Amino acid sequence: MKPFVYLSQPSRVVFGQGALARLPEEIVALGAHKALVLSTSEQRPTAEQVAALLGPRAVGIFDRAVMHVPIETARQARDVARQLGADCAVAIGGGSTVGLGKAIALDSGLPIVAIPTTYAGSEMTPIFGITEGGLKKTGRDLRVLPRTVIYDPELSVNLPVALSVASGINALAHAAEALYAVDANPVMSWMAQEAIAALGRSIPRITRQPNDLDARTDALFGAWLCGTVLGHVGMALHHKLCHTLGGTFNLPHAETHTIVLPHALAYNASAAPAAMHQIAHALGAPSAPQAVYDLARHNGAPVALRDLGLREADLETACDLALENPYANPRPLERQALRQLLQNAYEGVRPQP
Ligand code: NAD
Repeated sequence: MKPFVYLSQPSRVVFGQGALARLPEEIVALGAHKALVLSTSEQRPTAEQVAALLGPRAVGIFDRAVMHVPIETARQARDVARQLGADCAVAIGGGSTVGLGKAIALDSGLPIVAIPTTYAGSEMTPIFGITEGGLKKTGRDLRVLPRTVIYDPELSVNLPVALSVASGINALAHAAEALYAVDANPVMSWMAQEAIAALGRSIPRITRQPNDLDARTDALFGAWLCGTVLGHVGMALHHKLCHTLGGTFNLPHAETHTIVLPHALAYNASAAPAAMHQIAHALGAPSAPQAVYDLARHNGAPVALRDLGLREADLETACDLALENPYANPRPLERQALRQLLQNAYEGVRPQP
């Protein structure tokens, strides 16, 4: 075994069907009395349910969470929290809503309770992103790490199948890249393999029967592990590419991850054979890139960037941006090979084994 450094980040996880009912006692455990509930406008009814559950401990709902956390929205939410005298925030939703909670915590230090309803994984990381003047800045700060995370699979039953599949593969991407991370360690690698196996078996079950609570539970368990590894070890080419594509061309987050992952794995396959073997084994298939591609395709997810509205002419810019600011990756970044990766992802071809 290679020597390693293991870091554990403090967060409390309450997991299980019906776990939402534990929210009031979790707020009390934080020593808080006045919660501001955060959501998107689409999930306002769920936020109202949460507020009703909290009764007098809920002081308001801020339902304007949107993708990429614009600084103006973060400021508005912070002002509302201050005006209402909130001493904690409850973020119920996907990565965008949790991201808004993080932006509030960054400045105010308010403790955040996250209740994820997708598989994005942001709730387990100290990574924040805020968009100002069209540029998304990201950073790490322990103050933004949610203090308590409540995972209730019943809340993901309404997540549309298409988003469930894409969000599940978005989660899987964290685990896949964790296996070849420059700072990988055996604990996180073990979690990553468990996570890939859980998502690999639950995604097809969710596609067949979206309200299968056991499958939803399995997927959410996998997503928790994926979020944990994302928060503990560094990501590489795949995440960099998706960040670039999402930020520059405004592509949807989960779908972009779903399309790019097989091709990023194919790019790195020769340089990270042990990780490829672990991913393939967890998915019960001979080839990691093909297994991920097939998981997407067989479950109706998009496999081509052109289907997300990207233009072929944008691939050159994407390639240039991906080569800026070097970062750790198992295989060195080579322009021609990277450009081919993007072409393959654009066309949606099944990667070679
Ligand atoms: P999202 O939060 O933008 O949600 C997408 C849509 O789905 C929203 O309209 C939302 O209201 C809706 N939705 C969510 N759960 C639902 C449910 N159960 N039923 C019905 N509708 C539901 O999407 P996402 O993929 O969860 O998050 C993406 C964002 O999170 C990106 O901006 C990404 O950068 C960020 N993110 C950050 C980190 C981090 O560590 N900082 C990690 C992962 C993702």
